[in-house]
Amino acid sequence: MFKAIHTLLLPLAICLAVSIASPWAQESAAPPPPEAEAPVGLPNVMDVRVTVTPERARLVIDLAGKTEFALVSLSGPDRLAVDVRAATFTVPEPNVEVSEQGVISAYQVEQAGSERVRTTLTLSAPAQVQQAYVLDAFEDQPARLVVDIIPATAAEFAANVAKDAEASGAADLPVADSSTPAGGSELPIATRPLVVIDPGHGGIDSGAEAPGGIKEKDIVLAFALKLQQLLVDSGRFDVALTREDDTYLRLEERVALARTNKADIFISIHADSFQQPDIRGASVYTRDENASDVLDKVLADSENKSDVIAGFAMPQMAPEVVDILLDLMRREMRHQSYTLAESIVHQLEPSVALRRFPLRQADFFVLQAPDVPSVLVELGFLSNANDMANLMQGEWQGRTAEALARGISSYFDNLTPPQ
Ligand code: ZN
Repeated sequence: MFKAIHTLLLPLAICLAVSIASPWAQESAAPPPPEAEAPVGLPNVMDVRVTVTPERARLVIDLAGKTEFALVSLSGPDRLAVDVRAATFTVPEPNVEVSEQGVISAYQVEQAGSERVRTTLTLSAPAQVQQAYVLDAFEDQPARLVVDIIPATAAEFAANVAKDAEASGAADLPVADSSTPAGGSELPIATRPLVVIDPGHGGIDSGAEAPGGIKEKDIVLAFALKLQQLLVDSGRFDVALTREDDTYLRLEERVALARTNKADIFISIHADSFQQPDIRGASVYTRDENASDVLDKVLADSENKSDVIAGFAMPQMAPEVVDILLDLMRREMRHQSYTLAESIVHQLEPSVALRRFPLRQADFFVLQAPDVPSVLVELGFLSNANDMANLMQGEWQGRTAEALARGISSYFDNLTPPQ
């Protein structure tokens, strides 16, 4: 399980890495030492939101810029403190009672030092951080710290409190190696790759629709959340979703999220329809501007129309004159994308009905990032009765998500250079 209740510095924030292991692991909210200098260039905390379900909670902190953060478990009463290195905060509601039933009952935002804004989550049951990551600003969205919280046993919570108290005590001592995270036995968290999962469609764009009102956008979102959970639970990846609810995103926004956060891979999830109801099975696509199969072309065209459906113009395609570097990058990415697709198909094969020739190419706009290996997974087709039955079935979803997670893992296994 993800042992995150200490100072975390995730890959997304690496460029900011300074010696944060010590000051950021302290639990005390003591006033800053008198010699502390006025913070220069630190971002503000602009908003704090908590969403709670019976199974989990998510804290989102909007930031004026990327910054460092630390997580601390506190007891008596049981709390999780999330410290952000920031100048100040302008949160509309700094004290909130959470009305939904779940692990968090209230939260409070306060200035806890000259460079520290603390959000304290009051826990109604023992809980722990499942994952935490910082997203760059993109489009009109600010930079964000996202913290996912899941229930824990009382023993797990107590252990985290003890570990954090110990780390906070140790922080008074000179720290020889600032790259060692508090709780030294862990692997350096900064080495975890970032997987961006893109549940297709959303909002005004429902994607394919099956009789009975079942919509592709809902099926792929549920599946993406399942896959995210599996990947996060493996402890090996940071996982971000392009959308986590029924919102509409333009295709280029999906690509931009992966690119600005320097994702290691991008996986778009779909379950489309075909005119021919007998076509069925899962398949994995990589991008090729000259898609050969006429059905693949139809499929890609209908996906690329997503932006038109929602009333936006088609995104600007890259100009004809492409700079050589970009071209080289694309070739490399095409190769890596293909390797990723192969790896996923290889794991899907024994578990799931596949389309004939499951490794396919088509001109999907959403796969166009020149610097992020990208694949599009068609889980199956809403136009086929067998696929439809599978897609609605929890057991099938779980089995398929596990196969995908294995495919992703083995792709990264093979990337690691031999020792
Ligand atoms: Zn689709």
